Amino acid sequence: MKSLINPNLEQLRAYDPGKPLKELERELGIKQAVKLASNENALGPSPLALRAVQQALPDVHRYPDGGGYYLRQELCRRLGLSSGQLLFGNGSDEILALICHSFLNPGEEVIYARPAFIEYELISKAFGAKCVPVALKDFTHDLPAMAAAAGANTKLIFIANPNNPTGTMVSASGFEEFMRRIPEQVIVVVDEAYYEFVLSRDYPCCLEYVRRGRRIIVTRTFSKAYALAGLRIGYALSSPELIEYMNRVRHPFNVNSLAQAAAVAALQDEEHLRRSRRMVEDGKRYLYREFDKLGLEYVPSVANFILFKVGDGKAVYQRLLEQGVIVRAMGVYGLDEYL
Ligand code: PMP
Repeated sequence: MKSLINPNLEQLRAYDPGKPLKELERELGIKQAVKLASNENALGPSPLALRAVQQALPDVHRYPDGGGYYLRQELCRRLGLSSGQLLFGNGSDEILALICHSFLNPGEEVIYARPAFIEYELISKAFGAKCVPVALKDFTHDLPAMAAAAGANTKLIFIANPNNPTGTMVSASGFEEFMRRIPEQVIVVVDEAYYEFVLSRDYPCCLEYVRRGRRIIVTRTFSKAYALAGLRIGYALSSPELIEYMNRVRHPFNVNSLAQAAAVAALQDEEHLRRSRRMVEDGKRYLYREFDKLGLEYVPSVANFILFKVGDGKAVYQRLLEQGVIVRAMGVYGLDEYL
């Protein structure tokens, strides 16, 4: 008998969504839980974005604009790209899947760091790729080792910059050297979900590689700094050629109308973005100081989250949960002692 499922899915496990926040609060008898587990923006969305959503609400009986016209115009103008160089997704998560769908053939190799954002591995496996994880070095992508791992059968290399869950970034010179070394047929995917938080001058401008026509896809999101995670909208920047292929598998109405309206408005509110950055910087400074006092090791972060070492990660996670602070245990990343 033929197998019911695609054999690539046999080793995968479905995402566990957990309980809604309100339900968790009810069960634990706590109020106003502090949720830190998903690297969201605790400041909430810009008031401009909220107003735009309200204005767009009466039209939700219509399908959304499948081309994202206004948002496309706005982003292309800001980034200096042509309209064919941009693709929107239902969160940048969806874009990662579209990349694999468009370019990955069974048996081709995908290189990513370990630990890095777990989605790269899951989605690559689902498409039957041969996964080649490369260990981090000092909690940072080891770009020379990743370049050395790339061969004739490599199709995709994922780089999260900054990386989740470590909050570290690769340097401009490190990335330049990496791009010089990788084989021609490889598509480099740079996931910049947290790029708006990075203040370092040494952060590589990967968009410049897009402009120069290198085989690269940069992904970004409105979920983090722009605080629109619940609306689900992200985007990819690449060559018109690669974007066109991805458009062939994209569902025409993958990004809803409220998300599009909110994103256009959020881009206008630069003060809100500055406030978000300031909050994150203040928060990190506070936490570093307190970690130091407690003698806890942590990895200095360029993003809006911090990886820190507590010993028994699962136990500390549970104790914090009981006190209404929701963090993430790092066992799935093989970092049992970390949150
Ligand atoms: N990339 C990284 C590195 C992330 O941490 C996340 C969210 N946790 C995403 C992509 C996906 O974000 P979204 O789908 O909300 O755009």
